[in-house]
Amino acid sequence: MADENRITLTPDTPVRYLKGVGPKTAQRFEKLGIVTLSDLLCHYPRRYVDFSKPYSIAEAPADTECVVRAEVFAKPGGRILPGGRRMERITAGDAVSGLEITWFNNPYATRKLEIGQEYYFQGIVTGGMLRRQMVNPQVRTPQQVTASPFEPVYPQTEGLSSSVIAKCVAQLLPHAELLPDPLPPEMLRKYRLLSKAEAVRAIHRPGSEEEAHAARRRLIYEELLVLQLGIGRMKNRGAAATGAPMRQADPEPFWQSLPFSPTGAQRRAVDQILADMAGDTSMNRLLQGDVGSGKTLVAAAAIWACIRAGYQAALLAPTEILASQHAENLNRLLSPFGMRVALLTGGMKATARRTTLAAIRQDEADLIVGTHAILSQGVEFARLGLAVIDEQHRFGVRQRGMLAEKATNPHLLVMSATPIPRTLGLLIYGDLDISILDELPPGRTPVKTRCITGKKRRDLYHFLDQEIGRGRQVYLVCPAIEDTPDGGLTAVRSYYEDIAKTLLPDRRVGLMHGKLKPKEKAAVMEDFKEGRLDALVSTTVIEVGVDVPNASVMVIENAERYGLSALHQLRGRVGRGAAESWCFLVSDNSSETVQKRLKFLCSTTDGFAVAQYDLETRGPGDFFGSRQHGLPTLQIADLMNDTRTLHAAQSEAAALLAADPLLEKPDHALLARQVQQMFDAAGAMN
Ligand code: ADP
Ligand code: MG
Repeated sequence: MADENRITLTPDTPVRYLKGVGPKTAQRFEKLGIVTLSDLLCHYPRRYVDFSKPYSIAEAPADTECVVRAEVFAKPGGRILPGGRRMERITAGDAVSGLEITWFNNPYATRKLEIGQEYYFQGIVTGGMLRRQMVNPQVRTPQQVTASPFEPVYPQTEGLSSSVIAKCVAQLLPHAELLPDPLPPEMLRKYRLLSKAEAVRAIHRPGSEEEAHAARRRLIYEELLVLQLGIGRMKNRGAAATGAPMRQADPEPFWQSLPFSPTGAQRRAVDQILADMAGDTSMNRLLQGDVGSGKTLVAAAAIWACIRAGYQAALLAPTEILASQHAENLNRLLSPFGMRVALLTGGMKATARRTTLAAIRQDEADLIVGTHAILSQGVEFARLGLAVIDEQHRFGVRQRGMLAEKATNPHLLVMSATPIPRTLGLLIYGDLDISILDELPPGRTPVKTRCITGKKRRDLYHFLDQEIGRGRQVYLVCPAIEDTPDGGLTAVRSYYEDIAKTLLPDRRVGLMHGKLKPKEKAAVMEDFKEGRLDALVSTTVIEVGVDVPNASVMVIENAERYGLSALHQLRGRVGRGAAESWCFLVSDNSSETVQKRLKFLCSTTDGFAVAQYDLETRGPGDFFGSRQHGLPTLQIADLMNDTRTLHAAQSEAAALLAADPLLEKPDHALLARQVQQMFDAAGAMN
């Protein structure tokens, strides 16, 4: 270790103090998120190369990375090939077979190999039984393998290979005790966990599979505990005295004003919300309901009650299209009560924006509907009492916090159609109470879903033409805006020109995509909604929320590109009226998994079943991409497979927080710090 005599190592010492780490390497480490010694110690291997169970040459699997043990028979020496490449070669073998090993441009490769000695070679064995070969393998001596039978393979980056990282880590391992152990000793004993230092040492250099397993178990436990503590602490913080006290409202006048009756589920959700808003602490509630279950109406009732009580309300939506649709619908519902609705989006003209901001500040607007423009600094509410976030999965925990900070502890309602299986829901939304809309408004017929190939496109368009003839409208969704060089994707523009307009020559076809100006988007949407367009060719910008009940067919091109939950969302754009509705998944991809996945969607319209299938086949990534919810990405734990550890961590976290709700006791300082670090990285607690 460089300068060992002069500097005292701490977990926060920068990695550049390590021997062999100059400014360049330090920069590369930073790319991997590694700045300090503690970051490096906690950069765990992705997997190991197992030298402990070498293959015999004859049994080495073909064309796969593996380790074989062989004795060196001869070292004929190196030579220069035509073209200047250098080649070293040895012959080796075991009791049964021979092996020819070659290295290119590595003059030192054979220097230390001794004839008559056994070595371990790691690489790919090729060739037939009679002439087995290996090119550029890694070599280890039996002594090396005994000392370190499992070699770590690290996530690497350009210019910083796994083996360089391994060398740096190896220098540090004698100092693993530097890392303080955040877990109290009783807990280690109770769950028979390794100490932090033991676990860190073992995960980098396990002596056996059991040791690697024990190390992982301990580190996974710690990670899940810290995650649970963070979520629990957020919840405890959220349980502050409300800044918008109100009396419990009776929703009847609002229900009476509607042209239809609310569903039982809508009534129940609204009752829960109104009770929350009449409590001493501010509401933190998630409204979960499948596409089309009528979440907007529930939000409207809550907003109505809030304005009645003398406060302002805000509704945040992920896209401009959705925001203006909400503003229009809510205006229709609320204006009969004399309530004033304002729309605030990023695409607004400066003067319009200024007028709207003044209205918000002076309490002349009762409900403000908008995109994330609502979160910007210039927006000051006179008396915000309720913040609603639609399609929560499109935002992060962070935006949730930013909106809530526009006032002192307003009530918060978040809505999501992404149905999340319960165990994951507890994690993502652990800090929220949950209401579920498990009932669709009456008169809906399930959307009929079919998989077809591009060959059937003409028939499909014939069908579309018929539907349009019956007064219906159709959506056509394609993935990308520009043509891709590989030609594999259907670009929305050329699809619009060459396919949709050609195959529907007598129909009015519109084009919608994310690169249009907000005004253009609004105009196209308006045309479609008002029936001035028969068909809309679009990218997935229409995925969330868009509500045009007269649309009855959804065609999704390159359907294989999307997760089932996204397809389900898109399908949810139709089947909103009483008419029979259709969804066509067009794909020329014949892979079995793709076909199975698409068939599954044809077989069900239940959003929970769809999410469960996605989860089982694609893993929790779709739910846990940190972008979607703002919670930390986990480094080592796997929420689907580590469920037993998860439950243990869950109950320990609950017990800890019961005794110390905000983790303020000195005994918990290390855990609190760890929580802060984990959630800071995700931007969730700011
Ligand atoms: P989502 O839950 O997907 O956000 P929306 O709020 O967009 O669903 O509602 C879908 C459609 O159902 C809208 O056209 C809405 O007007 C209609 N709707 C909502 N509640 C009812 C109800 N109780 N009876 C009839 N139609 C309803
Ligand atoms: Mg909606």
